[in-house]
Amino acid sequence: AIKQEIEVPAFGKTSVPTGLFINNQWVESSDSNSFSTINPATGEQFLNFAHATKVDVDTAVTAARKAFKTTWGMNVASTERAALLFKLADLMEKDAAKIAALESLNSGKGIRIARDADVADSVACLRYYAGLADKLHGQTINHFGKEKFVYTLHQPIGVCGQIIPWNYPLLMWAWKVAPAVAAGCCVIIKPSELTPLTALYLCDLVVEAGFPAGVINVLPGLGATTGDAISRHMDIDKVAFTGSVPTGRRIAIAAAESNLKKVTLELGGKSPMLIFDSADIEEAAAWVAMGIWFNSGQDCCASSRVYVQEAIYEKFLTALKAKAEACAIGNPADEATSFGPLISEGQRDKVLAYIESGRQAGARVLTGGQKWPQSGGGYWVEPTILADVKADMKAVKEEIFGPVIVAASFKTEEEALELANNTEYGLAAAVFTNDARQATRVTAALDAGTVWCNQYALLHAGVPFGGFKQSGIGRELGTYGLDAYTQVKAVHQNL
Ligand code: NAD
Repeated sequence: AIKQEIEVPAFGKTSVPTGLFINNQWVESSDSNSFSTINPATGEQFLNFAHATKVDVDTAVTAARKAFKTTWGMNVASTERAALLFKLADLMEKDAAKIAALESLNSGKGIRIARDADVADSVACLRYYAGLADKLHGQTINHFGKEKFVYTLHQPIGVCGQIIPWNYPLLMWAWKVAPAVAAGCCVIIKPSELTPLTALYLCDLVVEAGFPAGVINVLPGLGATTGDAISRHMDIDKVAFTGSVPTGRRIAIAAAESNLKKVTLELGGKSPMLIFDSADIEEAAAWVAMGIWFNSGQDCCASSRVYVQEAIYEKFLTALKAKAEACAIGNPADEATSFGPLISEGQRDKVLAYIESGRQAGARVLTGGQKWPQSGGGYWVEPTILADVKADMKAVKEEIFGPVIVAASFKTEEEALELANNTEYGLAAAVFTNDARQATRVTAALDAGTVWCNQYALLHAGVPFGGFKQSGIGRELGTYGLDAYTQVKAVHQNL
């Protein structure tokens, strides 16, 4: 079915879209297949979504290509693209309470956070790129003198495939769709098979805002089928992906093996926090706690590796433990809840296995370490600290993507940097110190695309985001994020 009814907290019985959104229309899957999703707070099955096939991907690409050549791309004024994005942002803001309720229901995040962070930040991202849409400029260059000159055009790349994960379903939708559409691209976006609900819900708002058919298409489906068909499609010009490193690698290979489409990858992380002995312990603990326990640790820049200078190690851990035990664990539908369940049974078990491997390898479980006792059928894992860890432990080397901090002490700045940079990842890092020269040295030496000093996890649509090393290729957000959806043409004139 292209629409189904569900019970939404505070809204009662609500009809939600569950079909494919192609060319501004709701359609069934070409082979009538579907997949189901689970409510992570209860473990109960809650909706069936149409599964987009390779044929459906073809249909969406045809619609997107047609729009790109006729009603979008270079056929529409940039001010018109801006106006449509502003309109969509207004519609989302008006409908924020319901969108947040659906996001909370599908992903398990607390309703207040879904509304005040996920929806609000998505609206802000749309507005940021609406504001940038008419500020794309080229250059004029006259190296050749006389009547010859060169100008550059920043043209939209074309039809873009976008593949997103389940941890921030709505925000990742905004990070992908807003810059692409602002630049004049048409998109085919595949939400995660675990959390397709809000990306689909927004489609009716896309139509209401007045976007021409084919500009924004949403195809729910599995990674290995729908995602792979997008990555391999010969008429998709670019694929933008957020998710795990192994999947990023697969997508890069598929892109290379097909039409060598452009690729941007936002992948995982294992972000180091360096706490030096001049730092304010309470303040540092509060930022680290927020960085790991926000979204129950399911965050690519989770503050998951903590290194503390010897003299303050135990004191810092005591402060952090108090914050772990103060997390507002509970039902996502409650305003007070800040710590919801993990997304799935598989993710819950994976996180518990990492904790167990740390325990077996000699880590000290300072707090947490198990399922939340009141989980019922839901997938909660307690906020957990593994202390006294060693660099070769699995829980230290690999991304856990759950509410687990690993912690160890260090003696010198040199040792701290060595520990911090001893990873394949390079998404984010932080340094806590009251020594300004040390802050300048250490921030420069950390291998990461984002480095925070005496704070953590503050993001803004205007600030570039992306990874060093295996944490990704390219940057999203800011003007870099807009550039990533354009290509530069140098026009040599001889008039
Ligand atoms: P995942 O890589 O399994 O899935 C992400 C998306 O890719 C989903 O939509 C999935 O259907 C799709 N996919 C899976 N296999 C595919 C294939 N062969 N071809 C094309 N698409 C395919 O990741 P996940 O489990 O959803 O998310 C968790 C991981 O994502 C973590 O490792 C986390 O660090 C990372 N992540 C990174 C960022 C970032 O901004 N860097 C943000 C969120 C999550």
